[in-house]
Amino acid sequence: MSSPLAWLLGKESPRCGCTGECGREHRAGGCTVTHPSELMVAPLDPAKDAVTPLSVPESAQGTWCHDCHDLAVRIIHARIELRFLESASDRRTPSSLKGAA
Ligand SMILES: [Zn+2]
Ligand SMILES: [Zn+2]
Repeated sequence: MSSPLAWLLGKESPRCGCTGECGREHRAGGCTVTHPSELMVAPLDPAKDAVTPLSVPESAQGTWCHDCHDLAVRIIHARIELRFLESASDRRTPSSLKGAA
């Protein structure tokens, strides 16, 4: 059985695959973190990571450095929260909740 870690270690010259998903500008066209101890395997789509990372197939996994992944996941969470707040404000507030805060 191959674990994501074995996959990462078996890769030739592993490198963070982030090209800006973390919201930072990577001037070299992508993140330049290459040291295995700085890298991790996580779903290419950070939104999936918020749910069940291990259910994502290996082909949809990517190499991330901790910084990029952390920031990318935070951006996704912020977006999810924003969407939730927007949809919540669209709905009419039940009168029972009015003034509860
Ligand atoms: Zn990175
Ligand atoms: Zn990045």
